[in-house]
Amino acid sequence: MKHNLTALLLLVSGALTMSTSAASPVAIVIHAGAGGKGIKMPADKEKQYHETLTKALRAGHAVLIKKGSALEAVQAAIVVMEDSILFNAGKGAVFTSAGENELDASIMDGKTLLAGAVGGVTVIKNPIHAAHAVMKKTPHVMLAGEGADTFAKKVGLEIVPRKYFYTEHRWKQLEQWKAKQKTKEQSQLEMTREYLGTVGCAALDSKGNIAAGTSTGGLTGKQYGRIGDSPIIAAGTYADNASCAISCTGHGEFFIRHAVAFDVSARMKYANETIEQAAKAVVQQTLKKAGGRGGVIGLDTKGNIVMEFNTPAMNRGYIDKNGKLHTAIYK
Ligand code: ASP
Repeated sequence: MKHNLTALLLLVSGALTMSTSAASPVAIVIHAGAGGKGIKMPADKEKQYHETLTKALRAGHAVLIKKGSALEAVQAAIVVMEDSILFNAGKGAVFTSAGENELDASIMDGKTLLAGAVGGVTVIKNPIHAAHAVMKKTPHVMLAGEGADTFAKKVGLEIVPRKYFYTEHRWKQLEQWKAKQKTKEQSQLEMTREYLGTVGCAALDSKGNIAAGTSTGGLTGKQYGRIGDSPIIAAGTYADNASCAISCTGHGEFFIRHAVAFDVSARMKYANETIEQAAKAVVQQTLKKAGGRGGVIGLDTKGNIVMEFNTPAMNRGYIDKNGKLHTAIYK
């Protein structure tokens, strides 16, 4: 009898735990750039990628488990990737044609539709925090260049000398890019092939709110002053509790022209598509037809996850609502 009672109690408490987590699931999905030429990297390098993607996912997921917000989780995951030299964001960012690093980032809150972004910043260690500060501490959505750098200093974000962003492999990439600048067509082709490394995240928190963020150094050899899609709300990042949270990666000019992140959200809202259908249509039809290469990651408030890309590879991963962790690089 006593045994039966204990078993019953265990069963009830187990069911309760399950129903609580099922009723307020948390989930996180990240990318670290799409692109590639279909050539696989050496196994030890690949291992480093998987490890860092896992570290980023775990950092974001830990926030969500402790009932932190989706906005906090997005930043936690992105900071790990910004601080890694593997990715084209923060430390490890690519160089402009003038041999400088100019960084872009944005973040959006699906609950309030508030958003913040920085473009062309040069001394902020973690641009994703600067984007968040713009959202929280100013009435604006985007600050750019010197003004954004000064703002970040003022609000106490970590500032680094410009040379902090120098890495040898990115410098070599710029030199290789320069050597290939014989024809306009060639330079365009090289630009679109090389863009693996921008980072982004979308998260669902225990309150049912979603958020998305993106951070990048842009494209190797970009003209100084060029701003891509990553800090542009609706192009590189979008979040709305009524549809989805999306972060993009790829040839930014195409993502701006086609308002890619917003288009995924709009298809869900106005055409009643699922997140899978919407992401697929935008990446595999709209973008592809236009010649835009890249991908998107995202999720909705039910924890449905998408990772859609039209390139040979996209660094990506998720921890889904059941706690399953997955990372991948190639198609
Ligand atoms: N979308 C970024 C840009 O155009 C680059 C990337 O995603 O790799 O700046």
